[in-house]
Amino acid sequence: MKRYDVIVVGGGPGGLAAAASAVEAGGIVLLIESLDTLGGNASHSTGYLVMVGTALQRQHQVSDSVADFMADGERQIRLELENGPMIWDRELTELYARESAATYDELTAMGVRFSRLLAKPSQHRNDRMHALEDPAQLGAAYAARLETLGVEVLYNTDVTRLITTEGRATGVAFETRGAGGSPRTGSAGAQRGVILATGGYQGSYELRRRHQKAEEINGYLSGVRSCRGMGHVLGAAMGGDLINMDYIQPMIVIPSLLAEDAIAVNRAGERFHDETGKYGDRVKGLAAQPGGTGHYIIDAATFRTKSALVATMPEPPIEAPTLSALAEAIDCDPATLQTTVKTWNGFLAGGAQTDPVTGRTILPKGRRPLRDAPFYALRMVRATTFTWGGFAVTRDMQVVDVMGDPVDGLFAVGDTTGGINVISGMGGTHIASALVQGRLAGRAAVAGPSALPHLTAPAQSRPFEAKTLPKMVLFDLNTPEPDR
Ligand SMILES: Cc1cc2nc3c(=O)[nH]c(=O)nc-3n(C[C@H](O)[C@H](O)[C@H](O)COP(=O)(O)OP(=O)(O)OC[C@H]3O[C@@H](n4cnc5c(N)ncnc54)[C@H](O)[C@@H]3O)c2cc1C
Repeated sequence: MKRYDVIVVGGGPGGLAAAASAVEAGGIVLLIESLDTLGGNASHSTGYLVMVGTALQRQHQVSDSVADFMADGERQIRLELENGPMIWDRELTELYARESAATYDELTAMGVRFSRLLAKPSQHRNDRMHALEDPAQLGAAYAARLETLGVEVLYNTDVTRLITTEGRATGVAFETRGAGGSPRTGSAGAQRGVILATGGYQGSYELRRRHQKAEEINGYLSGVRSCRGMGHVLGAAMGGDLINMDYIQPMIVIPSLLAEDAIAVNRAGERFHDETGKYGDRVKGLAAQPGGTGHYIIDAATFRTKSALVATMPEPPIEAPTLSALAEAIDCDPATLQTTVKTWNGFLAGGAQTDPVTGRTILPKGRRPLRDAPFYALRMVRATTFTWGGFAVTRDMQVVDVMGDPVDGLFAVGDTTGGINVISGMGGTHIASALVQGRLAGRAAVAGPSALPHLTAPAQSRPFEAKTLPKMVLFDLNTPEPDR
């Protein structure tokens, strides 16, 4: 069995950053990826990254701080609490915000380019959503960097088991799919640690069946299909403490870059929500429409320039030569649809920054009206894009077990962790936090982790006394115990 210092399982942003930082810390690294390319879901994403205190923000005279970010995070958590209690890892969230500017520097040094900062005032009081010029750049830039750094990468390979020695993760067993033939099995040793970076579990029927609401288990899946929660399963087999597993963000499928040029209408032909607003609000907005149906409307100019994004939509576009004909095709009121489009175009022409109908602030680049025939309708489809639950970890990203002890030699990053993604509704936090966590994990795996667990584990549970528990305890396990 070939031996490495660190084995990284999964080549999304978390795994890529982990592999790079582990080598830079002096380790010999193997990265194992299920697919034949690197980048994971980030390559299929819209590429919005929330980072705090970056050079791009300074360039645009945006003053931002970790404290401001945390205040926005807290506001988001209070909203999420309406969906039920959860565990928010405030400490890890703050660490992400603090380290994110260094991640920005690292990305730009690798040649990754950001095109703009987006204003999202309902989620972020300061402009901190950094738009990647091309989301595919991330995987490509890391692939080149890992090659330069001498990281060995095994593609088309699924890690199926962890190898353990006296309670320590010391390697992995895997299956490689060759061209045509049956899978080849193998194993590799990791002297310093295994980093689980397998993303979420949205591609696993069994995990969805256990954790997702009944009506959504068979729902449309957007993104790569290889995120089947194997990291969750492998870590659970070592006693890892999985938190927030029932939180799965339902979304309306549309790449944000396409949503910028679209409006959505219901059967009456009216707009009913901010098409670029919070994911949860979009889902609620659609559910409240007659028949729970709606369509995005775009024109020929957008169809032409964003055809690759249109192709990622769950259903093919419906085309019609006029707005009236389109209304007929999607069974909505033609006169109202015409008025809705006219109102939208009038708003764009006016130059105001906030749409008076829905409060929308993300406006098309160049404020292009819906004018060029033919017109297209894209049915709004609810889907699962990523999951929120995963392991409780230390600040070194070491997995913590259900007894509250760090698991020797085992680390987790990105969507395989569970304490940060509950702020997902802010938008743009998944990729950036995965990158930050990867850097931390790679370094700690090589140097040896020293951080202690900071969340309470099931085995350390406090006795339940409903009357004395302040509300905060439901979601903030960093809060000191109340005086009794
Ligand atoms: C359409 C879409 C748009 C999105 N837009 C945004 C956005 O704008 N901003 C944002 O922050 N987030 C966005 N996301 C979410 C974001 O892409 C993910 O949350 C993020 O990529 C998670 O990073 P990760 O490294 O944890 O895992 P992933 O990127 O999910 O990568 C995990 C990798 O692990 C591999 N893997 C899984 N199991 C195994 C195994 N057993 N063995 C080997 N390899 C394995 C997978 O093939 C995959 O490549 C979007 C997602 C989608 C689908």
